[in-house]
Amino acid sequence: MPTTRALRDAIGGLVLFSVQAAAATAEVDDFNITQVAPGVYVHQGVTVGFDDPGSDDIANIGFIVGKDCVLVVDTGGSYRIGHQLLATIRTVTSRPVCYVVNTHVHPDHILGNAAFAEEGAVVIGHSRLPGALAHNRAFFLDQYSEALRTGDGRTDLVAPTLLVEDRLDFDLGDRPIRIWAHAPAHTDQDLSLLDLNSGTLWLGHLFVERIPALDGNLRGWIELTETLQQLDAARVIPGNGPLPQPWPSAGDAQLRYLRTLLGDVRGILAVGGFLEDALDRAGADERNQWALFDQHHKTNVTRVYTELEWE
Ligand SMILES: [Zn+2]
Repeated sequence: MPTTRALRDAIGGLVLFSVQAAAATAEVDDFNITQVAPGVYVHQGVTVGFDDPGSDDIANIGFIVGKDCVLVVDTGGSYRIGHQLLATIRTVTSRPVCYVVNTHVHPDHILGNAAFAEEGAVVIGHSRLPGALAHNRAFFLDQYSEALRTGDGRTDLVAPTLLVEDRLDFDLGDRPIRIWAHAPAHTDQDLSLLDLNSGTLWLGHLFVERIPALDGNLRGWIELTETLQQLDAARVIPGNGPLPQPWPSAGDAQLRYLRTLLGDVRGILAVGGFLEDALDRAGADERNQWALFDQHHKTNVTRVYTELEWE
């Protein structure tokens, strides 16, 4: 996978963080925002299913403040959540929001985009994200019509215009930011972000405590997690789950689950087992390790079986 190779090269060239910033965190308002490092603010989403009340607030989202402007990472599952994040930013700084990064297409991460497009922010995404959005557009507009309704009553699904094929480096004003675009893993449009000043790694494709949901490529996701674990970061913000987390250990549980799926389904296929056998047995030992296991595990197994059936 050339993208992963490029990532490994890039990691090798980084100045790493020999002095780890003190893990001082502070609550700054009632939107459950924590300052996890100087100028890095994160809102922790809730652990509910996609059909449950509060499901527009599942993903971890937040922002990074530079001397010139503000970068937002993911915008939540509704215009309402995006707007709450924007209102929180305004309690911290009056600097403009220049960029929004969408880590991938899942609705809990991107449906609040319109709140920031109104501010003139440039939306950044993986080069495959516009295609994924176009593919899901009719479904999103139908399924999430209320979540997408803007303050003035429009329904708006905002796509990225600044696309990343491999790597993107830019600056928020004495605040260099690096973004990598990956080969298929959690989805086929995953981005990772690194705030170089604080050593904060932001991984929308990392799940902590909430069961990982496979929507891309199992072997690619394992390889990506392993590769990123070689990166020396002071902390990581997962896409879902408690934050901040220590790195690289915060990737261990996700890797264990994904490797278990790989080993179990391969073993079942090797003896001519059917999908029903995999659904019964693959990853069964993981049941008590994850929140919302029953909502996503069988879908994961089905995807893994399909992926590995022809390898
Ligand atoms: Zn996702």
